[in-house]
Amino acid sequence: TAFKALGLDEQLLQAITDMGFETPSEVQEEAIPLLLDEDRDLVALAQTGTGKTAAFGFPMLQKIDVESRTTQGLILSPTRELCMQITNEMKAYGKYKKGLNVVAIYGGASITDQARNIKKGAQVIVATPGRMKDMISRRMIDISKIQYCVLDEADEMLNMGFYEDITEILSHSPEEKSTWLFSATMPKEVSTIAKKFMHDPLEVTV
Ligand code: AMP
Repeated sequence: TAFKALGLDEQLLQAITDMGFETPSEVQEEAIPLLLDEDRDLVALAQTGTGKTAAFGFPMLQKIDVESRTTQGLILSPTRELCMQITNEMKAYGKYKKGLNVVAIYGGASITDQARNIKKGAQVIVATPGRMKDMISRRMIDISKIQYCVLDEADEMLNMGFYEDITEILSHSPEEKSTWLFSATMPKEVSTIAKKFMHDPLEVTV
């Protein structure tokens, strides 16, 4: 299939078949081979509805080690709704990755329950910035070993005033990691954050 040509593994291809995806969207076609090929930073200009979740989700799921319980991937998103939606998509994409644990972290729900889910070992965390910062400062979450960090809807996160939270969160992550920034628009604030946190990023526009 066209997805196979992008370099995706059998477990992901099986999940893609189950979901009924037939052809990769434009952002998937452009981003997936780049992200699979090397560990580089990426800035992608893409609106909601373009299939951007799979564009970062497939490569992340292919690259993480599900045999390890260490948190390897972090996805930051602006709202609780988006956070839950991304979590559900990641679980569906990764349904044949045995041992995969994707955990959602967001405000307005029990922090104890979320901490318990994290304790079981989450290779991927999908989070809103406020609660994530809180749980890191309370040492409930350790992101010192993450290798992949997605800033989804970066323009929205900055509009909502999450700049400081994002900066604080990323200060607990290793220098050596790949950061993938997705945004519908590229205002000055977003390019500033890209310059601050990213090194020589690949660029994709759809
Ligand atoms: P997103 O832009 O990531 O929010 O995705 C929008 C919707 O399109 C989601 O419901 C996805 O499950 C779906 N989707 C993503 N990629 C594809 C694809 N290649 N073919 C069909 N549907 C897709």
